[in-house]
Amino acid sequence: MRAFVHTSHPSRVIFGAGSAAGVADEVRRLGGTRVLLLGGAHVDAQATLVEEILGPLMVARFDGAEMHTPVLVTERVIVSMAEHYVDAIVAVGGGSTTGLSKALALRSGLDQVILPTTYAGSEVTPVLGETSEGVKVTRSSREILPETVIYDVDFTATMPIPLAVTSAINALAHAVEALYSEHANPVVDALAVESISAIGRGLPALGADLADREGRSDLLLAAWLAGTCLASVGMGLHHKICHVLGGSFGLPHAAVHTVMLPHVMAYNAVSVPRVMERIADALVTPTAPAGVYDLIAAAGGPTTLAELGMAEADLDEAARLATEKPYPNPREVTRVGVRRLLGEAFAGTRPE
Ligand code: NAD
Repeated sequence: MRAFVHTSHPSRVIFGAGSAAGVADEVRRLGGTRVLLLGGAHVDAQATLVEEILGPLMVARFDGAEMHTPVLVTERVIVSMAEHYVDAIVAVGGGSTTGLSKALALRSGLDQVILPTTYAGSEVTPVLGETSEGVKVTRSSREILPETVIYDVDFTATMPIPLAVTSAINALAHAVEALYSEHANPVVDALAVESISAIGRGLPALGADLADREGRSDLLLAAWLAGTCLASVGMGLHHKICHVLGGSFGLPHAAVHTVMLPHVMAYNAVSVPRVMERIADALVTPTAPAGVYDLIAAAGGPTTLAELGMAEADLDEAARLATEKPYPNPREVTRVGVRRLLGEAFAGTRPE
């Protein structure tokens, strides 16, 4: 018998193509009458469409969310929200824009409607990471969790393939680490396996046809499921390494996940062979780490830390930081072991 504890984080999810059409109804459903709309440079068309749908409900718009949610930006927007008597937030964008929305909701207590444009999954987690004077602080609370998420497949169609690939592997990493989390449970396992299968179907379809709606739909569904896994259980060594490489060495978030995932899976495989079998089955591949590596390589994703701008001379320091306060992980985290896997990721060798 497997004993477990499962906590669900309630958000209302609306999924489909063209589902953004319902955004005004969703705002009204939450009692909102004066909306702040968050958009961004690369998602201007989507944000402008939402602006048109909101019509007179929208009273202010802000397009300047930044990576890692700087507190200075949040404080500036909070002032503007008060000036406009804003009573609801609608955000259109990736994890960075969702981060700003969460930071505003935490301070104002207002409801959020999120329309994701990437596969980061932040929209279904109660977690917020903010930076102030170079220090990142992560917190979790009910106010942070968005009330409604509208997944409109068409909103992700503008992601260039390299971004779509790395973003999808970012989602895959949530599902993979959920399966061997110390908090793993049958509900989260089911979501993770379904997410992994959908990524296995959706990713090859992306390269074949940029406008392929079925492939994009598989990936967006996978992103939601993987985000739900991330919200429910703790992550392990892979996320720790990615936080170090992103936070201390400035490497791009989703791309780091993409390069690191097959190597951390290979490191952990000896301790969780049954989990790796489930992942391999879901991806219809003989072995999970090599299968994930091949999936990334075939989709044209990055496979080396070198190409992301990591300096080989920094690998020792990265290994030290990644093992300083390790996240719970199925295999013991040693500095020598992590240094070796960073070296493999630097060179991009295919895990056997
Ligand atoms: P992002 O939001 O920074 O977006 C990356 C780039 O892609 C940006 O330039 C953006 O403008 C562009 N972009 C977004 N959608 C696009 C689209 N449809 N078409 C074209 N360009 C588009 O990156 P992300 O990977 O979505 O999110 C990463 C951030 O989210 C990180 O800061 C990470 O820490 C955070 N995150 C938080 C959680 C959480 O639970 N708190 C979970 C996952 C990620």
